[in-house]
Amino acid sequence: MIENPIKRRPTRKIKVGSVYVGGDAPISIQSMTNTETCDVDATVAQIQRCVDVGADIMRVSVPSMEAAEAFGEIRKRVQVPLVADIHFDYKIALRVADLGADCLRINPGNIGSEAKIREVVAAAKHNDISMRIGVNAGSLEKDIQKKYGEPTGQALLESAMRHIDILDRLNFHEFKVSVKASNVFLTMDAYRLLSAQIDNPLHLGVTEAGVYRTGSVKSAIALGGLLMEGIGDTMRISLAAEPEEEIKIGFDILKSLGLRSNGINFIACPSCSRQEFNVIKVMQTLEERLEDVRVPMDVSVIGCKVNGPGEAKEADIGVVGASPRSLVYRNGEKSHLIDTNQLVDEIEAMVRQRVSDIEDAKAKEIIRTSFSE
Ligand code: SF4
Repeated sequence: MIENPIKRRPTRKIKVGSVYVGGDAPISIQSMTNTETCDVDATVAQIQRCVDVGADIMRVSVPSMEAAEAFGEIRKRVQVPLVADIHFDYKIALRVADLGADCLRINPGNIGSEAKIREVVAAAKHNDISMRIGVNAGSLEKDIQKKYGEPTGQALLESAMRHIDILDRLNFHEFKVSVKASNVFLTMDAYRLLSAQIDNPLHLGVTEAGVYRTGSVKSAIALGGLLMEGIGDTMRISLAAEPEEEIKIGFDILKSLGLRSNGINFIACPSCSRQEFNVIKVMQTLEERLEDVRVPMDVSVIGCKVNGPGEAKEADIGVVGASPRSLVYRNGEKSHLIDTNQLVDEIEAMVRQRVSDIEDAKAKEIIRTSFSE
């Protein structure tokens, strides 16, 4: 087994509700609702769909006082930590802080007078909630735009540091920072510069990354590159797609880097004329059917014996395609043969059995430790 070479940059640990961000906390995945916040039922349903696929944190935009009251209702109906996204109106920040927001996404430099900033910071301290400073290449301050001529890593850094300095001056340190751009190189440059300046946790993202496929690739390159350098404590994949898809892509990136496990890590061959079954169809069906599985496991499904045994030996469950029966490996050992026409059902049954065995073992361990105390 190759040792994971990624060494995470040490950052201070902050809290977003029940989820820690930074330090040795797992890199969290978040997304943002795209429903009308005032439509409480729709927003709660969307948050729940994201939680079902593993969302650690959800962000909800709060553009008005009416939305702030709706935010309070949403807060009562979901367990997942909620970030309230506020842009300028400090009164909205004060209201959602009282209504149970776990984090305020607001830039102190945009709030206005020092007195207003102090009030927001006091509310965050009083309610024990964190903040996120979010700088975007598309909305840099006019004087910074003029100074740099175009968005650059230094420009994003300078903008972020203005907001950071305000919070530092007010002795408030429970915040994370993002410096997002839609360009891969600019995003990476800005985060690298920022990570060298501060020890607050960094919220990674490529903003306006694009539609599902290209946006996912762009995000995987930029965020994957930063994560490999140890940069990043929480992340959002910004796609023109439903938020639950963002969560899934986020986990796929972390799974690929061995930074988090969530559900099945499928290993499948691309297939070719040697395939003994329709690999693409089988994998698509399996992925859909097993989307609810949260227990981490490696499942290898390979079209023929050319690469099948090698991959199967490294997986928790491995299948080597053959006709009419395929060979199953469990925990790296040859186990039994299954009907190749029934591959999907057979693999699903094995995965669900493994989940049940792992959960039984966990329950037994809990009983054993409770009674031995
Ligand atoms: S494992 Fe077999 S079926 Fe899959 S790509 Fe390789 S040769 Fe083709």
